[in-house]
Amino acid sequence: MTEQTTGSIVLKKGREKPLVNRHPWIFSGAIQRVVSRPGPGDLVDVQAANGDWLACAYYNPQSQIPGRVLSWNADQPIDETFWQQRLQTAFAGRDALQLGPQTSAYRLVNAESDGLPGLVVDQYNDFLVVQCLTLGIDRRKEMLFDLLTTLRTPAGIIERSDVEVRHKEGLPELAGVRRGQAPPNRITILENGHRFQASLLEGHKTGLYLDQRENRALVGQPRFMAGREVLNLFAYTGGFAVYAAAAGASAIVNVDSSADLLAQAQHNLVLNGHNTRPGDEYLNADAFQLLRRYRDSGRQFDTIILDPPKFAHSKGDVERACRGYKDLNWLAMRLTRPGGHLATFSCSGLVSADLFQKVLFGAAIDAGRDAQILYQMGQAADHPIALTFPESAYLKGFLLRVL
Ligand code: SAH
Repeated sequence: MTEQTTGSIVLKKGREKPLVNRHPWIFSGAIQRVVSRPGPGDLVDVQAANGDWLACAYYNPQSQIPGRVLSWNADQPIDETFWQQRLQTAFAGRDALQLGPQTSAYRLVNAESDGLPGLVVDQYNDFLVVQCLTLGIDRRKEMLFDLLTTLRTPAGIIERSDVEVRHKEGLPELAGVRRGQAPPNRITILENGHRFQASLLEGHKTGLYLDQRENRALVGQPRFMAGREVLNLFAYTGGFAVYAAAAGASAIVNVDSSADLLAQAQHNLVLNGHNTRPGDEYLNADAFQLLRRYRDSGRQFDTIILDPPKFAHSKGDVERACRGYKDLNWLAMRLTRPGGHLATFSCSGLVSADLFQKVLFGAAIDAGRDAQILYQMGQAADHPIALTFPESAYLKGFLLRVL
């Protein structure tokens, strides 16, 4: 069935440029008027002030982003074939990455950057985990679950729409099994040949931080790990720790504010057959406080991994977030032995790579240490960034050599 538009959004004069350049968001501030009272989630035509047709979008009057574009082609019917083709194009992109058979968990659909605003789909073995981030997608999710069932024949589909951004769309947080069977409590997936257990119903995000896969492989090489004392801050379920152990780290100190997650990290190391090294530790602690204690006691490490949660949730948070990043990083630099390495990350989309680099520069000055960028890192290729939508570049990292 082809969905028809039930109204239109007319933009203010001069505000059509981003749309012409295929940016998929229509901000409330750019809207002159909404014509014919479209309902929440309905399709709308987007028009320039002079009446030119620009795009077809779905509509949410409650959101700061009332329109998200589905198509820039006036002749494109929005029907099941449309959704199917968008999904299949996204799947083909992942096939082209040739992640298997060493990797069995990866992002299949990365929302706006795959032409499917508000929809995230991650594959974990034969299960799919879906996040519906917007009202437009939430309204259409049963159809999408059916399509995903037909196209991928998963063992089950789990919805993990228990994310804060849904509040900005006027939606509640939801999670549950939506099609097929429930996943086991812990599913064991492969990542670059390493085994990881994930809880698809309760883990962070959709279970694991899949976006760090390539960075774990880079940082987890023997040249940064073999024979090294490693400090793995914000360890979660031991993503970086498993790579560090495989690459011959001499000791790994894992730090997280959750004891349960640390237990899972330890379990993941065992699962990969890594014996406990005498210096291994699992510290249920606040990373900020622990770094200060180590500074006071003069403790140092050869390789430090710093992968904190998102600090900046809105524009007003950016300054405070940068202070947080600077605090962690100047301490971490002080704790790095001369010639050692610091892999440092920010997953705050609002903190650009440029800004993050400036923060690191300030941190190095304060720490009294010289540091060099060996590698700049981003999100793994299964989390692509549409050139027309730079907002989807949220993860950035630097692998530094600290002198
Ligand atoms: N590096 C991990 C992902 C880290 S996610 C991986 O590759 O899988 C961020 C982690 O930081 C979460 O596990 C969270 O429990 C932990 N965390 C949040 N605030 C913290 C704090 N102040 N101190 C220590 N850990 C914290």
